[in-house]
Amino acid sequence: MQFYSTNRHSPPASLREAVMRGLAPDGGLYMPERIPVIPAAFFNNIADMSLTDISYVVANQMLSPDIDSAEVRRLVAETFTFDIPLMPVRDDIYSLELYHGPTKAFKDVGARFLARIISHFAKTERRGVKVLTATSGDSGGAVAAGFRNVPGVEVYVLYPTRTLSAQQRAQFTLTDTNIRPVEVLGTFDDCQRLVRAAFLDPELRSRATLTSANSINICRLLPQMFYFYHAYASLLRREGMVRDLVISIPAGNLGNLTAALLAKRMGLPVKRLISASNANAVTPDYLSTGVFTPRRAVRTVASSMDTGNPSNMPRIADLCGDDHEALSRIVTGCSVADEEILSTMALTRSASQYLLDPHGATAMAALVKGLRPGEKGIFLSTAHPSKFPRVVEKATGVTFPAPPAAERHAHRIRRISASPDALRRMLLENMLDNTL
Ligand SMILES: *Cc1c(COP(=O)(O)O)cnc(C)c1O
Repeated sequence: MQFYSTNRHSPPASLREAVMRGLAPDGGLYMPERIPVIPAAFFNNIADMSLTDISYVVANQMLSPDIDSAEVRRLVAETFTFDIPLMPVRDDIYSLELYHGPTKAFKDVGARFLARIISHFAKTERRGVKVLTATSGDSGGAVAAGFRNVPGVEVYVLYPTRTLSAQQRAQFTLTDTNIRPVEVLGTFDDCQRLVRAAFLDPELRSRATLTSANSINICRLLPQMFYFYHAYASLLRREGMVRDLVISIPAGNLGNLTAALLAKRMGLPVKRLISASNANAVTPDYLSTGVFTPRRAVRTVASSMDTGNPSNMPRIADLCGDDHEALSRIVTGCSVADEEILSTMALTRSASQYLLDPHGATAMAALVKGLRPGEKGIFLSTAHPSKFPRVVEKATGVTFPAPPAAERHAHRIRRISASPDALRRMLLENMLDNTL
């Protein structure tokens, strides 16, 4: 499979090049040149297949023959050391619990799979491999856990000052391995900007293989397709028949939405999608007007979705052939205010005894408003409620034991200003250290 850049100024790349670059040289995002359609027979048996078996079939469509099938099966099996249950919340609404991985967030799936693909290719790389990733909350920990002790790979986790919870920070600052935490004196959007600038910096590129573990990396995105098929299979198993399925996706950088659109193009029988945002309404506004206006992010209770400039937008535009009309027939947007996120958590707790995290609650709220008679809804629960103890307690009164105490390795944290030059200097210094 070849991958093209959404900016269309770089030549097509092999799977290896696309993964090891993260971002294309022209600043675009890689996308598969061809979107395979999975044979219909797959869906006849899907209800009897395990998560790993389903994922293997989907992965093979994109990765074989660049990675041989036996290796693909191994990478998939190593990714899913945990289950993804589909839990009934209401007669017509189910929660897909994506948070049973090591860091209790859906990002474990993409990060674990990507780490394994990168280490697969790193074995034959001549230079050291450095992974740069920006996190708004949960991806830092997931990426750190995914790459822990992967030989030959060093991971820099950039995070905005102040917005992360102590528990989220602890997931990537409490390890003494190949993970280097970098606090950026700015916002998450600043972190993303710095990472992008580093990828386009010729001097940095000439010294090391720099790649990204954010959803700009195509191999973080592809495994996120697996669980949409698995959700369909789980619903089919429960109900015997699935018609008019609607999936509601809590959206930040739109990685999950991109994966869902890809899955639909590859044949997933889903009727339509809902893209659920918090008060950062840039995507719903785009979906209803056709005009994309990036803006500064505001802080919300669903903080892992606080972005005002979703990085996967170019992929979404390509997937619908820049046809906004066509896109809006498949995806509707919905922006949910903090009060409504909190009241959805409270109501769902009292009516269904089901505990939501604020991100899952955003998607549930959108589904409650958007589901039409006769439709079945699945929303993604993207983080375990215990990751957001203060919000959960405020909304529902449910409390969790305190997270592990302070950051023992705080001295390992580097603090830099929100300028590409500061990141550049830090990376060059470290590369020098490595060669001494
Ligand atoms: C990252 C994240 C999201 C947003 O996912 P995208 O694929 O970036 O849209 C939603 N919920 C949680 C808990 C997250 O960590």
